[in-house]
Amino acid sequence: MADNTTKQENRPGPSANEQELNPKTQHYEFLGPIGAFGFVTVLPLLVLFFATCCGPSGYPSQDLLNDWRGFLAILTSREHLLTMLDWKAMAVYLAFVAVLAVFANVLSGDVIPGTTLRNGQRLKYRLNAFASFYNIFLLLIALLVQLKLGLSPLTFVYDHWVGLVTASILFSYLVSLAVYIKSFQPGALLALGGNTGNALYDYVIGRELNPRIGEFDIKFFTELRPGLIGWIMLNVCFAVKQYLDLGRVTNAMGLVLFFHTWYVADGLWNEEACLTTMDITSDGFGFMLAFGLYTWVPMTYTLQARYLVDFPRDISYLEFGLIFALNILGYYIFRSANSQKNEFRTNPESPAVKHLKYLKTERGTKLIISSWWGISRHINYLGDWLMALSWCLPCGFGSAVPYFYAIYFAILLIHRERRDDYSCRIKYGKDWDKYCSIVKYRIIPGIY
Ligand code: NDP
Repeated sequence: MADNTTKQENRPGPSANEQELNPKTQHYEFLGPIGAFGFVTVLPLLVLFFATCCGPSGYPSQDLLNDWRGFLAILTSREHLLTMLDWKAMAVYLAFVAVLAVFANVLSGDVIPGTTLRNGQRLKYRLNAFASFYNIFLLLIALLVQLKLGLSPLTFVYDHWVGLVTASILFSYLVSLAVYIKSFQPGALLALGGNTGNALYDYVIGRELNPRIGEFDIKFFTELRPGLIGWIMLNVCFAVKQYLDLGRVTNAMGLVLFFHTWYVADGLWNEEACLTTMDITSDGFGFMLAFGLYTWVPMTYTLQARYLVDFPRDISYLEFGLIFALNILGYYIFRSANSQKNEFRTNPESPAVKHLKYLKTERGTKLIISSWWGISRHINYLGDWLMALSWCLPCGFGSAVPYFYAIYFAILLIHRERRDDYSCRIKYGKDWDKYCSIVKYRIIPGIY
């Protein structure tokens, strides 16, 4: 007993320097530990719900609509649980992530410094997400052609969907656990929001800011590759399944595929822009980001393509044109607003942004108050949401499930805007109040 006490007394506490660099987080977000518990339970269950309870008999399935208790019994049956733990699907999922990790390390790309961190360091990042995107497709095509397999192996995705979803969820839990444990290594720079001391909360929010293995940055790798590239690969597999079932791809599927691929290719091409997003500059890497990018993005953003395999449909030229126009409008707002801010911050003398009016803050940075950023404080979110809506519309109105993305994304963006507003208020103090009095609307001009 006495021995233990002595040991505890002798154990070195965090040094003053360490405490200064990694202060304890005093403020909970997302309802604190209760919200964190919701993240690790409810969200994976929701993704599993879409995987198991939606299919050719309906979204949600007819069985569920007729008798949800009967369905619960099926879900909890040993046989069903075994289909969820699908070893082939796990192997395929792991192989996919492994190939992307290899590409991230071996493919060439510009190496650029990220934002200056609290400890004065600037980490370097290699930009090769776009190259990884087309190379993984080239690799897949080469394998299918070389082995003379045709397109049919790609239906594996549809046939093993529940297994793939389960694999991605298990992987998200494990990666988050690994980075949480790693964050206790001496010298780790912690996220200001993820160091509360509550293990579950910190595990979910992310304790370490930039977990790395050597030069390999786990957060940066996860940010765009498994989620976005995985999303398009899965979409393509669903389109192939539709093609093999019907002998053609419907125009609704074509539209969804085109919109999603365009969005992803644009994000990957502009990879550098992600270095200034909240995810990279201030959020820690924990379950929220890991699950979001290993599971949520690829497994729920593909709902529309999967729905169109089960309920194929064509749309009229008029519908096609209107939906296309909505997408172009959303993209135009989204891309030009984001590029304008990026250009203004990185190259303020460029003719494209030199004329912009701005508010000079005491912190030294300038806040744009004209053009896109004078219309609303997050006009970029509005553009993004309009695109989200245009992705759902090709599915028609037979079920609300394909609209899940637009509904969830609206909630995400509203919440994200509040979070950003909170952190900007801390960063800019009274300058932020002044900015808000000039640019009054949060997202939708004249409405919100
Ligand atoms: P923003 O790109 O809007 O960045 C917000 C930051 O920009 C603020 O913290 C502030 O940082 C700076 N800023 C705010 N107002 C101004 C201004 N008037 N002038 C200059 N700088 C300003 O937010 P996000 O990083 O959240 O989003 C980036 C894009 O990613 C958006 O288009 C969004 O829709 C999209 N997105 C998509 C998601 C998806 O799942 N598809 C998820 C999340 C985002 P500072 O002053 O410190 O530089």
